[in-house]
Amino acid sequence: MASIPLHTLSQSSLQDYADCPRRFQLRYLEHLHYPAVESEPALENEKHQQEGEYFHRLVQQHLIGIPAEQVGKLANTDNLSRWWENYNNANLPIIDYAKHAELTLSAPLGSFRLVAKYDLIAIVPGGKAIIFDWKTYRKRPKNEWLAPRWQTRVYRALLVQAGAHLNDNKPFAPEQIEMIYWFADFPTEPATFPYNATQFKRDWDALTKLARELESASDYPKTDDRQKCTFCPYRGYCDRGVRAGDVADAEAEMEAEELFDVNFEQIGEIAF
Ligand code: SF4
Repeated sequence: MASIPLHTLSQSSLQDYADCPRRFQLRYLEHLHYPAVESEPALENEKHQQEGEYFHRLVQQHLIGIPAEQVGKLANTDNLSRWWENYNNANLPIIDYAKHAELTLSAPLGSFRLVAKYDLIAIVPGGKAIIFDWKTYRKRPKNEWLAPRWQTRVYRALLVQAGAHLNDNKPFAPEQIEMIYWFADFPTEPATFPYNATQFKRDWDALTKLARELESASDYPKTDDRQKCTFCPYRGYCDRGVRAGDVADAEAEMEAEELFDVNFEQIGEIAF
């Protein structure tokens, strides 16, 4: 299949490239259908993923002003009702904040555009900006696993780079920004990542370098870390086994969770 030139980069494509250049090539350049993950129990995993998507939609509807009682009626499975209750009881500390739900920001990055869609950015203009990301993971990942993920780095850096219109047309200082992963099944254990100018410079320099590398890349090797193949849907293309393997350790478990993570492009509309 012919490669199609890539125009945008996202935290997912950058993470795929970091995890395995071959996966990046298959998914974003050759646009091979990203097959369902074949881990067992398949139906339960698929259901969990769909419920995760639905939960995002419920929270978004609530954030744009639909009353909680009305939204809550749609939380009609065990998982959804537990997540919704946890969300409702969480009292997120953003009552006086301007709330921007499902907001997309983008900025040029080399010859690409870097794009991110945020679950929620809560802002006090001239004050703090908190990025929220809802996660319906079945395990609470360690902060050390989350900190270097491209999502954590891209979301904060891009808000500095492209968020001035949300802050009285003044770019946010990195120190104004923090990112919170809020876990629907671990509501009292959010993971919080503040930001500072040194981290922003580190991230933007790394992104610029990566964009340069991708502009001239012609070789997309398979990862040496075979653990990354364990749940990868492209195993069949890479001669890395046909069936998903057993989860070997905590990190592999998180890799698997991430494959069931919510992909915004897949989220449909809910009729109210
Ligand atoms: S199966 Fe392994 S080598 Fe192939 S794309 Fe997936 S992670 Fe990369």
